Amino acid sequence: MASKSADAHDLSRPKAETRDRRFAIGVTSFNAPAAEPALHIVSTPIGNLGDITVRALETLAGCDLVACEDTRVTRVLMERYGLSTPLIAYHEHNATKTGPKLLAALDEGKAVAIVSDAGTPLISDPGYRLVGAAVEAGHKVIPTPGASAILAALVGAGLPSDTILFAGFLPPKKSARLARLEELKGVSATTVFYESPRRLSATLADMIEAHGPDHQVCVARELTKRFETFERGTLGEVAGRFAETPKGEIVIVLAPAQAREVDAADVEEMLREALFDMPVSAAAAHVAKRTGGDRKALYKQALAIRKASEGGETGNAGEED
Ligand code: SAM
Repeated sequence: MASKSADAHDLSRPKAETRDRRFAIGVTSFNAPAAEPALHIVSTPIGNLGDITVRALETLAGCDLVACEDTRVTRVLMERYGLSTPLIAYHEHNATKTGPKLLAALDEGKAVAIVSDAGTPLISDPGYRLVGAAVEAGHKVIPTPGASAILAALVGAGLPSDTILFAGFLPPKKSARLARLEELKGVSATTVFYESPRRLSATLADMIEAHGPDHQVCVARELTKRFETFERGTLGEVAGRFAETPKGEIVIVLAPAQAREVDAADVEEMLREALFDMPVSAAAAHVAKRTGGDRKALYKQALAIRKASEGGETGNAGEED
């Protein structure tokens, strides 16, 4: 089915009752209800066109207008799923002109979707100013979550996933990049970076400078696509595999910097905090997990804290021990 596209200066649309709000998966066609008047932030695939949710398709079909970075890119998706909602280009170069038009459409009670070329809008992509302006103007904002390279890379990396930091693109200049890497070392979290294939080798070299060659890393390339690869190992090993500029899109997942040594005062504080809403044994297990400390010793310490504070100042959880 051919898709219609809106001229960037004309936000008019066919009357709601006559507009085609259908989408197709394979040979099966579906009717979508009109989308709620709001700014809908819709995630689209990061390579494999199958990675889109049914709700995202319904939303794209049900909206009055889809704001996208590049109409040629989004049209491929629209054609694949038989979507005919008008498209309007919205990117950093026309944001000041097109942003107000999109807000005006919202003011008129229209349902406007925003998508990016790939993945989740606002994630190293345009959209946050529009969302901010929509919120400011009192419009409802509805995310329709889906693919993003951050999570696809993280879950395939095999590195700790309990605490993560998304650091976007590093600065292109070496001195600024090194400074940023040093700054990020202070955060004990697995850090996810987007990177261009051209700069990958230089960035890995800087990571070696900041963290040493034995630090663990994973370079995820071409996620969800035919030549998807995960290169895992130490920075020294992985850098050796990317001496030449690779093809495709890249995410770097860097293991957390060494956690700060936990001292006795930290442990005491963690136990006191845990005892606010946990029984003694659960508090001890929780702190043992966080610090790697001995569970029995922590249990004794937690029990002593609880007893010393009998009367309820330390905890309010029912005691089970
Ligand atoms: N909004 C997107 C998202 O949610 O992932 C990111 C857009 S950002 C402009 C593009 C960067 O995302 C690429 O340079 C690359 O670092 C990463 N990326 C996007 N798709 C990818 C893929 N299929 N494989 C690996 N990295 C990808």
